[in-house]
Amino acid sequence: MPKAPDWRRWTWSLPLLLALLFVAAVLAWARADRAAEREAEQQTLIADSLSTAAQLRVRLDEEHRLLRELAAQLAGGQALDEAPALRQGLAGSWQSLVWLDAQLRERAQQPPPGLQRRELSQSLFLNEDLADGGRLVLRYDPARLLAAGVPWWLSRRYDVQLIDHEDQLVASLLRAPVRVVSGDLPSHRVPLDEAGSLLLELTLREPMRDGLLPLVLALIAGFLPLAAWASWLLRRQLRRLIAAEARWRGEAAWRAAIEDSALVGLRARDAEGLLLSVNRTFCEMVGRSAAELVGHAPPMPYWHPDGLNEAMQRSRRNLQGGAPREGYETRWRHASGRDIDVLVFETPLVDAQGQQIGWLGTVLDITERKRLAESEARQVEAQAQAARLTMLGEIASTLAHELNQPLSAIASWNAGVINSLQRLGVDDAQVHGALQRLGEQAAQAGRVVKRIRQFLTKREPQLEPLRLNPVIEAAARVLSKEFAQREVQLELRLDATLPEVVADAVLIEQVLINLLRNAGDALLERAPPRRIQVHSRVAGGFLVVEVCDNGPGLGGRSSEQLFSPFYSTKREGMGMGLAICRSIIEAHHGVLDAGPAQLGGARFAFSLPLS
Ligand code: ADP
Repeated sequence: MPKAPDWRRWTWSLPLLLALLFVAAVLAWARADRAAEREAEQQTLIADSLSTAAQLRVRLDEEHRLLRELAAQLAGGQALDEAPALRQGLAGSWQSLVWLDAQLRERAQQPPPGLQRRELSQSLFLNEDLADGGRLVLRYDPARLLAAGVPWWLSRRYDVQLIDHEDQLVASLLRAPVRVVSGDLPSHRVPLDEAGSLLLELTLREPMRDGLLPLVLALIAGFLPLAAWASWLLRRQLRRLIAAEARWRGEAAWRAAIEDSALVGLRARDAEGLLLSVNRTFCEMVGRSAAELVGHAPPMPYWHPDGLNEAMQRSRRNLQGGAPREGYETRWRHASGRDIDVLVFETPLVDAQGQQIGWLGTVLDITERKRLAESEARQVEAQAQAARLTMLGEIASTLAHELNQPLSAIASWNAGVINSLQRLGVDDAQVHGALQRLGEQAAQAGRVVKRIRQFLTKREPQLEPLRLNPVIEAAARVLSKEFAQREVQLELRLDATLPEVVADAVLIEQVLINLLRNAGDALLERAPPRRIQVHSRVAGGFLVVEVCDNGPGLGGRSSEQLFSPFYSTKREGMGMGLAICRSIIEAHHGVLDAGPAQLGGARFAFSLPLS
């Protein structure tokens, strides 16, 4: 059973593979998207850090400017506690201010130490050198600075902290200033002064969003089992399909094997006579390949060329359902050119739905059977002919027997008459000659009858060494008168050096007389000159005698036909002459043959073996 190719068994996995590839692509895309988003958030964080740092620096510069303004107000003689710059500062982020003289001794401090606010966050210091060598030392609250310098929305997104160079918290926007360590959360630091001792740190409060990734993962988590389930269904279906196909192939191969093993030819035709299928026996029967035949419409290439019209009519009749139930015989032509006799039965070709779609022809090759039947018939005919011949032989034998007596009587009466005439002294030469010839003819007739009788009673011919030319001349003499009357010129071209041959002179003479008489009869059909030539010669161990004429010839008839008993074209002919001649020649181990003569008519020749 042919198996499905391996790759087909795995085609079900292709959609699954594609689904996995799709999932991988979506994951890669989601990852890349997440990275891009993170990058964007980082950029935002940096930008926010930089802008916040810039704002804080402006705030610091403002504090510095206010401190310088205070220094100027003090230099202008303004009392420290009444200086407007001090009041403005303390209303802001200033915690305390210490005024030092040139020797760095404290001149004044505002607010006085007992009244100073206790701040939770660390303090930062700003110094301003005075013109008199003194110095103003400002302690301010960086948390306030942050609260004033950082927009509210920023503080909702980030933990905003000020830290020193040792990573210690300086100030935070949180109520309880605890150092927030970034951990996994993204953060960014920006130095607020040139020395880098004060840094602004922004830390994202919430981890960055993962964008579409969770949704994608959720979808994939749902999609993958679905794809796997669909693939499993596909695989099961495919296996069933492959198994069904294998079964179908097996059945088709089995059916083809049965069809091809059948000894009868099968041919399926559609309603129009187009060949749909043929089995191997049919192909062998007509000697043509299935490819050559299938799809062929009438006239079929195997129809006999001599009966195309008839075959066409029969085909139409069959397609209309008129084929005889017992089948019909016809003759087809094998591709090699030989004829084949077939017996065809036509039955309706019905499809799986019970619809007739054409005709199924069952074809039997009956060539051999017919040949046997014909040869049997020929044999019966031959037997009938042999029976007729035997009967004829019997009649001839009886006749010969019956004629023997009267012929002997004629001969003795003739001898008696001659003796009586001699005694009476009648010496008429003419009468004497006539009686002499009468006696000779009677004796000759007696010999002929005797020989024929011997021959017909299956006695061997009386063989004796014989010179053939005198026999030919004797036969010619017998017919000379007849030929003269019919204006037939008989020409003997005999080889004088002919060796002797062992034969029965009387029978050979009868053969010659028969051949010459047939030639004379044929010549009657034409106007003179009527010519017959007789040749004798030696050829290859045989002595050959030919009788040729310029008559109408054999008209295409075969020797077989001419030599068969009772075949005659003459009105009163018996058709036995040539048959007996052949029997006589064959009894001498020779051959009798017929064909066209150079003179234009027929040529009959017999050969006798020399040894
Ligand atoms: P029959 O003489 O009784 O017809 P034969 O057997 O002698 O029988 O001859 C058979 C036939 O052969 C003749 O009827 C004739 O048609 C044909 N035949 C014989 N000899 C010749 C010939 N020389 N030329 C033409 N046809 C001949």
